Order: sequence, then structure tokens, then C-alpha cells
Amino acid sequence: MTLGKETGGVSGKGISGVDWNDWKWQFRNRIRSMRQLASIQQRPVASLAPCGPVLRTYPIAITPYYMSLLDPADENDPLRRQCFPDPRELTFSMGGVPDPLAEERDMPVPGLIHRYPDRCLAIVTGTCAVYCRHCNRKRMWRADNPGRTRERLQAMVDHVVRTPALREVIVSGGDPLLISEPLLDWFLGALRAIPHVEVLRIGSRAPVALPMRITPELCAMLKRHRPLWFNTQFNHAREITEESARACEMLLEAGIPVGNLLSVSMRSGPGNGPFPGGDMDRHGDHGATLAEHLRALPAPLRSGLPRRPGKDPPPAFLPPARNGTGR
Ligand code: SF4
Repeated sequence: MTLGKETGGVSGKGISGVDWNDWKWQFRNRIRSMRQLASIQQRPVASLAPCGPVLRTYPIAITPYYMSLLDPADENDPLRRQCFPDPRELTFSMGGVPDPLAEERDMPVPGLIHRYPDRCLAIVTGTCAVYCRHCNRKRMWRADNPGRTRERLQAMVDHVVRTPALREVIVSGGDPLLISEPLLDWFLGALRAIPHVEVLRIGSRAPVALPMRITPELCAMLKRHRPLWFNTQFNHAREITEESARACEMLLEAGIPVGNLLSVSMRSGPGNGPFPGGDMDRHGDHGATLAEHLRALPAPLRSGLPRRPGKDPPPAFLPPARNGTGR
């Protein structure tokens, strides 16, 4: 299997440019198995046996597009490290805790995290275009039950309706752009119709992992629900391509501000580009890496994290408090 774009927008062997630029084709043709991974790396499947246990717990999914950006033969490639399985995943991420941010504790209805008084986060699906090995919601990757999605979303809307303190809803996942477009349209419309909801925000890595998903039709639909903000997750300069830049531009042209949440840290090394030969810190120990960065934040920023006094323990990802307040 050969993947990779060639000039003129025509993609790798046997793949038409039309297919390559079709997000549904990209989604259908994601790399999902060890056999495919071995074939891409031109090595025997048996050589990937150490990854078997991690794949049984945390599956892989890599779009052909994202695969075309990385070097499958270089185990230090910072893009490869974001999506290729690593046996250390089972033990490293926050000591193997499946819910490192203790999100399940703050779900008044399934899938809706309501931790802070005025904001909540709706997990509308467990599906993503690319499964990031650093994800802290890996526990949800197998949890999708499409038949009940509308029912679950309605329960979330009902909770927001009966909670006037909520002024912001983050629509996230998984990737919310991977549920059906009419369903997402309905959900955003139902939230937008709630008088006390001022801010709607979408969290999606589609511009990075599946930029073809940002279609004119999608932008026209999202535009109807403004004011709407869009957060994505570029972690490395090599993820900024003509396609991903265009996807962000299309959102911006629709009047939707785009922000970036850097989820894993890169450090410089020999190589090229703005993050030369970038590398993820302590691959696999993603939670600890994030904690290190949060510890480095100036105290006023750390203490600015909203908490419900007397109810919330210190955020799990912050260092132990010296004075018992979590600040
Ligand atoms: S896109 Fe987001 S939710 Fe999906 S695997 Fe990556 S970090 Fe996790």
C-alpha cells in the first residue's frame, strides 16, 4: 500500500484525486488494522505483535490523508507518534487511569460533562477520523451507539434548558463533525434556541486529520448557528498543509473564529521547519506531559480555573496543593 499526494492534487497509487478529496472516502479507507499498518511499513505483521494488547484496548484509525503526512518508517516522526500504537500506552497515560480527568463524575446525563457552573461539554460521539494516542477520552472510542444518538442529544438539550446558569456549550467528542450533518444541525439549533446559551463552541480535529470534511455545505450549516466558535488541534507545523489551511480559511470565511488547542508538546531537534525534527515529549505519558506544562503556567492562570467552592476537588491534572485549596 502506498499513500501520498503527488503534484496536481492526484493522490497515491490507484487513488483518484476525486476520491482523495472526498471526506467519506477518506473516512471509509482509514487504516484500522495491524495488517494494514504492517503493509504500510513493509514489515511482517508478526513484528507488530507487541502492539496487539494495546490495539485490543485502544483501536487505531488513521486517514490516508494524515498517513500521507508522516513517515511510517521513522518511529521518531512526531506525526507518526501521535497515531501509531505504542505498547507503553497501556501503562503510561496518567498511570493507566481510563478517565484521567474524572469526567464521568460530572455527568448529569450521559455524555454531558457539567463541571463548572456556566459551561458544559457535550460528547456527541466516540468516533474520530484519527485516534490520537495522547487522547484522554480513549475510553469512549468503542462506546458509540448510533441508534441512540438522537435520544442522548435530546437529554443533553433538556439538561441545558433546565440549567439557566449554563451560558456556554462546547460540542465535542470524539469528533462532532462525524455525526450526521442533519443531526448536528438539529443539535446546534436546539442549543442556540435556548435563551441563556450565549456561546456555542465546536471542538473538532477534522481540519487537521480530515480537512476534506470542511465542505461548503458544512460551513453554510454552521454559519446558521453563529455566534459559533471552532477549536481544533494542530500539534505540529507539518500538520499545516494546503488542505488544512484551506479548511480553516473556509470556516473563517463563514464567520466562525478558529482557535487551536495544542494537546501534546513538541520539542525541537535537528531537522527542518518551524518545529525542526519535532518530537513529542515522553511519548505515551501524555497526561504527565500536559501536567508538566500546566505546572509551568503562571500562578494567576492556574488559579483562574473555575471550581465550585466546597464541591470540586482540585483539578486532577494540577500538582498537589500546598494549602489544600488546589491553587
Ligand atoms: S480527535 Fe480529539 S477526541 Fe479524537 S482521539 Fe484525537 S484528541 Fe481524542
